[in-house]
Amino acid sequence: MDELRYRVDLLSAMNQRLTNDEKMYRLICNTSNNAFLYVNFVENTVKTLANWSFYFPEVEIRDMKDLAKLYSQVEDKYVLPLRDLLFLEKTELNADSGMIKLKDGRTWVECESAILYDEDGHATDKVIRFKDISKFKNQNEELTYMAYYDVLTGLYNRNYFVRLLSDFIRTAEEENAIVTVMFVDIDDFRKINDGMGIVVGDEVVQQFGQFLSIFQGEDILVSHFNADIYCIAIYNPSGNKSVEYIYKKIQERVKKPFIMSTGQDLLLSVSVGVAEYPEAARLTLDLINCAEIVMFKAKKLGKDSIQYFDAPILSDFLQNVSIENKLKEAVFNQNFTINFQPQYYTANKKLRGMEALIRWRDNDGKMISPAVFIPIAEKNGTIVPIGMWVIEESIKSFCGWKKKTACEVILSLNISAIQYMRADFIDKLLGIIKKYDVNPKELELEITESVLIENFKEITEKMCILRDYGIRISLDDFGTGYSSLSYLKGLPIDTLKVDKSFIDTSITDENTRIITETIIVMAKKLGFETVAEGVETEEQFQYLDEIGCDCIQGYLLGKPMPKEEIEQLLLKQM
Ligand code: C2E
Ligand code: CA
Ligand code: CA
Repeated sequence: MDELRYRVDLLSAMNQRLTNDEKMYRLICNTSNNAFLYVNFVENTVKTLANWSFYFPEVEIRDMKDLAKLYSQVEDKYVLPLRDLLFLEKTELNADSGMIKLKDGRTWVECESAILYDEDGHATDKVIRFKDISKFKNQNEELTYMAYYDVLTGLYNRNYFVRLLSDFIRTAEEENAIVTVMFVDIDDFRKINDGMGIVVGDEVVQQFGQFLSIFQGEDILVSHFNADIYCIAIYNPSGNKSVEYIYKKIQERVKKPFIMSTGQDLLLSVSVGVAEYPEAARLTLDLINCAEIVMFKAKKLGKDSIQYFDAPILSDFLQNVSIENKLKEAVFNQNFTINFQPQYYTANKKLRGMEALIRWRDNDGKMISPAVFIPIAEKNGTIVPIGMWVIEESIKSFCGWKKKTACEVILSLNISAIQYMRADFIDKLLGIIKKYDVNPKELELEITESVLIENFKEITEKMCILRDYGIRISLDDFGTGYSSLSYLKGLPIDTLKVDKSFIDTSITDENTRIITETIIVMAKKLGFETVAEGVETEEQFQYLDEIGCDCIQGYLLGKPMPKEEIEQLLLKQM
C-alpha cells in the first residue's frame, strides 16, 4: 500500500513538473510572434505551436500529409526549398539566406530548425521556427532601392549610373565599341522653381524623368543626377538607340504641355550636351564632364538645342577654368587698371564724358579682354568686388579731374546685373558718392539690355531709386537683346546706347539703316539721349549726325585711354 502511495505521489510530482515545463516552453514559444512546427518522424506526427495562425491562418495541420498544404502559402520559387526543409534532415532553408516570401507578397519569413537524432544517427524529431522579418527586410529593400535609384523619378541615381557607365566603358574597351553620354538639362528650371514653387518644380522633374524612362533598356541607361539634370548613356548607338532618335523624341515631347496636378500647363525646353567614348574621354567621370561642358555651350548659344563635343569646346572650357583661377588671384592682388573712352556730342564734337572700361594684364603680361573675363567673374561672383573697385577708382580719378579742370562731363560706369541684384549695392554706391563728394547728376550707370530683361522687375525698381538720387541710367548694347521698342516706354532710363553692330553695317545695309533710324526717332520721342557705340569712320559719323544721333563714342574720336591721357584731353577742353 505504501509502495502504491509512493508511486502515485511520484507520478503526480512528475506530472506537476511536466505541466510547469510545458507552461515554460509555451511561454517561450509565444514570445516574439514566432510559430513552430514540430515533426516526429518516428511516430509520423506533426504539431503546430505558438502563433501559427498569424502565418498560416487557413492551414490546419493535423498529420504529415497536411504539410503539403503549406506549398500554396509561399511564392513559387520557395516551394522546393520549403519542401526540403519540412521532410529532409535539413536544418537550413536552401533559399535567399534562409527566408521565404509568403503569397501575400509582403510577408517575409525566416525559417530555422533543430533536429534530434537517435543512437544510430537517424533523425527522430524536428522543430521548425517561423519568424516574421518583413519589417527588417522591407526597410532593407528600401535602403537598397535608395542606394541605386532616385526616389523622385524612379530612374538610376547618379552613383549607380556612374557604376553602370563604367561597366559600359569596360565592355566597350574590349569590344571596340562606342559609348555616348547625353547630358540633359531643363532650361530655365530656376524660373519654374522660383516662380511656381518647388512642388511644381518637383512635379516637372518627375514627369520629365518618367518620360525619359521609356528609353531605358539593355543598352541605354537613364539617370536623374539632381534637380533638373538627367544623364543618358547609350552603348553602341544606332537606329532608335541613337542620340538623334532620343533627342527627336525629347523635342516632340517637350513641345507638348506637361500638365501639373495644380491644373497648370507647362511647356519645357531642354539643352543637351553629347560626348562620346573614346573620342571625348576614356574615363567615366571625364566623359560625363565633357558632356556637361558641351551642355553649357548649348545653354550659352540660346538654350533649347543640342551640342556635340569637339576639341575647341574643351580648350575654350579649359581656358575659362585657367582664367577663373587667375581671376581670383587678380582680385586679391588688384591687378586691374581702368581706361576711359571719351564720348562726344555729335553736333559740336564737344566732350560729353567718358566711359570707364576695366583692363586686366595677367601675370604673364597678357591682356585679357573684359568681354572674356567679365562673364566668368559674373559666374563666380568676383564681379562684386571687382565692380566696386572700378566704381570707387573711377570716381576717385573723376573727382581729381573735376578739381583740376572744372569741366562739366559725365562719368559712365558699366554695372553688371549681379551687382544690381546685391541688396547692399545702392548703399555702397551712395557711400562712395558721399565719400568723394561727387554730384550724382554727373554719374551714369550702364546696364546691358539683355540682363535687364532677365531680371526686369528687380532692376527697374533699383533704377528708379537711383534716378531719384539724380543718377543717370543708360541702356547699353541696345538692339542685341530683346530688341523690342515697345518695352522701352516707361523704362526709367536717360540714355540709349545703340550697339556697335548697327553702326558697323548701317552704311552698307539698307535694312540696318531703317532700324537704326527708327531707334533714334523712337528714342527721341521717348525723351532719351542717344549714344552711338563703336564709330570708326568719318562716313559713319556723318550718317549719325544726319539722322540726329546725339552722341558718338568710338575709335574715330578716341580709343579707351589711361587716366593721365584723359586728363590731358580735359585740360585741352578748358
Ligand atoms: P561695352 O560696355 O559695350 O564697351 C564698349 C566696348 O567697345 C569696349 O570694349 C570698347 O573698348 C569697345 N569699343 C569702343 N569703341 C570702339 C570702336 O570704335 N571699335 C571697336 N572695335 N571697339 C570699340 P572693352 O573695353 O573690351 O569692353 C568690353 C565689354 O566689357 C564692355 O562692353 C562691357 O560690357 C564690359 N566691361 C568693361 N569694363 C567693365 C566694368 O568695369 N564692369 C562691367 N560690369 N563690365 C565691363
Ligand atoms: Ca558700356
Ligand atoms: Ca556697349
